[in-house]
Amino acid sequence: MPFQLPAEFLNQPTPFYYYDLDLLDQTLSALTAAAKPGNFRVHYALKANSNLLVLERIRRAGLGADCVSGGEVARALEAGFGADDVVFAGVGKSDAEINLALAADIFCFNAESVPELRVLDELARAQGRRARVALRINPNVDAYTHPHITTGLDANKFGISLPDLAGVLEQLEQLPNVELLGLHAHIGSQITELSVFAALSRKLNDLQTWLEDRGYHLPHLNVGGGLGISYEQPDAYPIPDFATYFGLFEQHLQRRPGQQVHVELGRSVVAQCGTLLSRVLYVKESQHTRFAILDAGMTELLRPALYGSHHHIQNLSSQRPGLAYDVVGPICESTDTFGRARLLPETRRHDLLAIRSVGAYGEVMSSSYNLREKAAAVYGSK
Ligand SMILES: *Cc1c(COP(=O)(O)O)cnc(C)c1O
Repeated sequence: MPFQLPAEFLNQPTPFYYYDLDLLDQTLSALTAAAKPGNFRVHYALKANSNLLVLERIRRAGLGADCVSGGEVARALEAGFGADDVVFAGVGKSDAEINLALAADIFCFNAESVPELRVLDELARAQGRRARVALRINPNVDAYTHPHITTGLDANKFGISLPDLAGVLEQLEQLPNVELLGLHAHIGSQITELSVFAALSRKLNDLQTWLEDRGYHLPHLNVGGGLGISYEQPDAYPIPDFATYFGLFEQHLQRRPGQQVHVELGRSVVAQCGTLLSRVLYVKESQHTRFAILDAGMTELLRPALYGSHHHIQNLSSQRPGLAYDVVGPICESTDTFGRARLLPETRRHDLLAIRSVGAYGEVMSSSYNLREKAAAVYGSK
């Protein structure tokens, strides 16, 4: 089904985000159906979209929460996620954030360094608690995605490199207020070459054997998130291929008896249900280029400026013959460009444009740069 904005929103002031809650629910059904046979525990990565109405649906579908800041831990609890369903990752957790999460008694910290483990131990002792941790390892697996969203290579700041792991475990033995629950890995985002997850599984298998030789039997394994979506064809592929994704782990990951496998998906859960609606302010024709200048910019959708990422753009107002446009925002930055030489039906002032697949890393990255007002969010469901 091609995208259609419900008629009730046609007079909504632009720019605004539109969330298709029915598509979100369908995505969640497909996700939970695919995760169930292998008994995977799915934590939704709040950083993709922490909108309360969206979170509410996700929580109701039975997912846990994956947080990367104290603010997200607080938001997850506010949205009704149980503390025992919350995991907290991040390479730079502040004392205040750790204290908040300890006080809430969250399920697990994904810890990334020895200094962090020491702080966790100290703060847990002060609260008379134990911090449950999974060690975030850097498996040195190439995710074959954009360099800015690759996280599992030795050159990245994230996680503990494998050669350092023995030393970290030694240090961990000295920390009585930290309890080791498992391993965690997250190798990147927008992964579309799914064989990467088989490679990750094999790395984790080797690592588990290595750990068992040293007497460690870990009850939890967390394989992170990163499943990609189709930015090119959101209408043809509205729901990601969760079955293949979980199937790869089922096939390649050697789960130990009783071991719980966790995944942390963000983008694949929410990206396709969100659309940014914007009106054309001006069409400016120069010698070289025809610009469609929109009332939405990098303040509403940063990804193209930040990573050069592609979003499908449609003109909902025009059926006229097509022309090539550079689709740009009004912000005083040259990177404030949504797409170059995009073929759109002939576009005029006040036409309504839909920028697709913005449900993940869209609204959450919005800013008030140029003192712009925050765009509204509206919700559709039948
Ligand atoms: C961002 C992030 C995720 C989610 O990644 P997606 O690509 O959105 O699925 C999962 N885990 C951690 C630790 C993250 O930082």
